[in-house]
Amino acid sequence: MPGLNPLTREWLAAIGEDPNREGLQRTPHRVAKAWQFMTAGYGQDVREVVGDGVFAAEGSEMVIVKDIEFYSMCEHHMLPFYGRAHVAYIPDRKILGLSKFARIVDLYSRRLQVQERITTQVADAVQDLLEPKGVAVFMEGVHLCMAMRGVQKQNSSTTTSAMRGLFRSDPRTRAEFMSAVQGTLRGR
Ligand SMILES: [Zn+2]
Repeated sequence: MPGLNPLTREWLAAIGEDPNREGLQRTPHRVAKAWQFMTAGYGQDVREVVGDGVFAAEGSEMVIVKDIEFYSMCEHHMLPFYGRAHVAYIPDRKILGLSKFARIVDLYSRRLQVQERITTQVADAVQDLLEPKGVAVFMEGVHLCMAMRGVQKQNSSTTTSAMRGLFRSDPRTRAEFMSAVQGTLRGR
């Protein structure tokens, strides 16, 4: 992402730094590389990322993939937020390789985001790919824009959830999922 190099030099000058001082000389280059990685999700498609990870299968027991680490950048401040995502679904003829859930979370995290939207996008992606009986996504995140500035609530975390199908219509299914995943971010 070489277009970022001159912008970063300007940014450094704007905050009162000297872009030419020794410690900062390679910074624009490093920033460009870091942002290329952190925004790689823009260039990816969910079907590509999942590849041949969808399988035909019997059974309709709840599958929960817990503690998927995510790292994203908030679109309001361009500062990081990060935490854990938990994804569950109840299959209907199709299942997804377990590692693919982390790939889907990465795809939507690696761009400028709000946590609410990642949660919804992951749920919709799983819904579209598998057409399951239900999908649930629960995310817990720490937002550095809150922790580092303004309100400075270092210990607060934000939770978001998206429920589809049986997770929405059946309170017992939803409760089973929530009791399995709630509080994992702060509980360890
Ligand atoms: Zn923010």
